[in-house]
Amino acid sequence: MVRLEAITFDLDDTLWDNGGVMRRTEEGHYAWLDAALHAWLEGRRQDRLEERLGGHADGAEPSGARGRFAERFPLAAFIERRLRLAGAHPLRRGDFTWLRHRALTELLNEYGLAAEHADHWASRAMERFMVLRHEVTPHEEVDELLDELGRRYRLASITNGNVEIARLALGRHFPVAIAAGELLAPKPDPRPFLAALARLGTPPSRALHVGDSWAEDALPARRLGMQAVWIGPDDRDLPAGIHRLDHVRELPTLIRWLERQR
Ligand SMILES: [Mg+2]
Repeated sequence: MVRLEAITFDLDDTLWDNGGVMRRTEEGHYAWLDAALHAWLEGRRQDRLEERLGGHADGAEPSGARGRFAERFPLAAFIERRLRLAGAHPLRRGDFTWLRHRALTELLNEYGLAAEHADHWASRAMERFMVLRHEVTPHEEVDELLDELGRRYRLASITNGNVEIARLALGRHFPVAIAAGELLAPKPDPRPFLAALARLGTPPSRALHVGDSWAEDALPARRLGMQAVWIGPDDRDLPAGIHRLDHVRELPTLIRWLERQR
């Protein structure tokens, strides 16, 4: 018999469709950086010109940057730099925020900005990234679903991504939120699951994990002895303890069925 006390949830592509969000965020923050940086550099060139004409120039160039940033380093170059950094820093491979900031800083440096300006603009771009990253639209059934489940079970979120659930309205449903990438132990590492269960005060055998990734959600949760719900296509045989759904909205029906099992 399965007696559940707690449910842990993956976020991206489990509680909302993430594909469009990531594309808009990736393109949007990079375009913002290119435009904002261009305006800033133009303003500084103007200031320098006025200083020179007024005879106040001190001789130092504000920056060696030439041309538009995104022309010199298109989005593909940024993506490639992140991959290279992830390869060079395996412990950071799940810490997407660090990888992004570091890759941007390097490119801005190579573009010609001084270290302090490169760091500043990388941080501003990351702020923009995080605003866009949180413009997610949860599946319409999710809020009520979590509200009902939260009355009966302790809930936690476990994500490898960089959404801070507390920044979303849905965050109120999750007393425990694990950012696995920042733990330096992204799923399928068992540590984020164990951290969530420890904070929920629940043994794995009384917990259910829900996620869309076979390798990073279903398998590692099951290996720990949790029940696992995999949201994915009907294309494989499921081992005992892993249950497949088409959509998270079907979860209450599955839980009722699980609790009737003897
Ligand atoms: Mg996911």
